[in-house]
Amino acid sequence: MSEDSAGTAESFEVVVIGGGPAGLSAALNLARARRRVLVVDGNRPRHAATLVARGFLTRDGIAPLELRRMGREEVDAYENASVVFAQVGSVAVEGDGFRVTARGVRGGSDVDVRTDAVLIATGVTETMPAIPSIRAYYGTQLHSCVECDGFEKADKPLALIGETHDLAERALLLTQWTDDLVVFTNGTDAVGAGDERMLAPLGVRVERRRIDDVVGERGVMTGVRLEDGTVIERAGGFIRPIWSPALSFADGLDLDRDDEGYLVTDAHGRTSLPGVYAAGETTAPGPQQLIVAAGSGAVVASAVNRDLIGLSLEGAAVL
Ligand SMILES: Cc1cc2nc3c(=O)[nH]c(=O)nc-3n(C[C@H](O)[C@H](O)[C@H](O)COP(=O)(O)OP(=O)(O)OC[C@H]3O[C@@H](n4cnc5c(N)ncnc54)[C@H](O)[C@@H]3O)c2cc1C
Repeated sequence: MSEDSAGTAESFEVVVIGGGPAGLSAALNLARARRRVLVVDGNRPRHAATLVARGFLTRDGIAPLELRRMGREEVDAYENASVVFAQVGSVAVEGDGFRVTARGVRGGSDVDVRTDAVLIATGVTETMPAIPSIRAYYGTQLHSCVECDGFEKADKPLALIGETHDLAERALLLTQWTDDLVVFTNGTDAVGAGDERMLAPLGVRVERRRIDDVVGERGVMTGVRLEDGTVIERAGGFIRPIWSPALSFADGLDLDRDDEGYLVTDAHGRTSLPGVYAAGETTAPGPQQLIVAAGSGAVVASAVNRDLIGLSLEGAAVL
């Protein structure tokens, strides 16, 4: 997907970067607004670690990759929209629009196209605490989204592993599902003494020693082994990864970001650069859930369509 015989780059009204629930939902709504839309997706979703996704109305329990496959099919069914597998390497301002280039992945072709608007929906990448076997249990017995997986973990002896200062707040949230929780700070000062005292009556214990590894038998997690050899029995639990928005391809656009690197947008997903929008988890996180990301894609698609028409939303609600 590149230049025609006259050397002109193929042109779209909107290129959506990222084919997760945010990007696909935006593309579906833009396709239905009769926009010429291209979704460019690197197809490396972080939720590939799990086989079951919870909490998406009418799809509770669906495999997340199946949800994406269905979403791609729905978008592709519109003749003015398509989804390709390619990893975007750069987005540059060109004239009154943008040039998007991407390298084909999973059999997809390279992309070099022009577009009036760009909608970024590339989600986040995750950095885990440096514990050797943590990935082996991630998505099955160790999870990161309490709202998504708390229900299946209810009333079990759980671990919460992390090194960030929101750990006490996460522990407090988890008391809705269990009264037997050990918070592992892995040698960091992630939980203060005051928070530890507040959590104790709720059945939450803070373990400050460094972790050697997560242990289990035949793929079933049984506990957390500390560096001094002590094993604390746990039947799974939650991790707090460090999340970073996946935005290296947009460095040249100099978009405003917050302290954690998330794109700063207005309520309709407009970034600091006219013509560039963001949806889903590339913007400041709310609940990290599929249905929230999909909803955000629909909200931003509405703004993109109105802006392309030239409707001013200044001071007006998006109807
Ligand atoms: C293990 C796990 C389990 C989860 N379980 C649940 C659950 O049960 N229920 C629930 O509601 N939520 C769950 N979530 C959260 C859910 O996956 C996210 O909230 C949701 O996927 C965010 O959607 P998004 O569209 O913003 O980003 P993503 O789904 O992350 O999609 C971003 C897409 O952009 C692509 N991309 C990134 N960079 C580029 C680039 N340069 N060029 C092209 N494409 C690019 C990626 O490959 C990816 O396909 C889970 C998450 C994890 C990690």
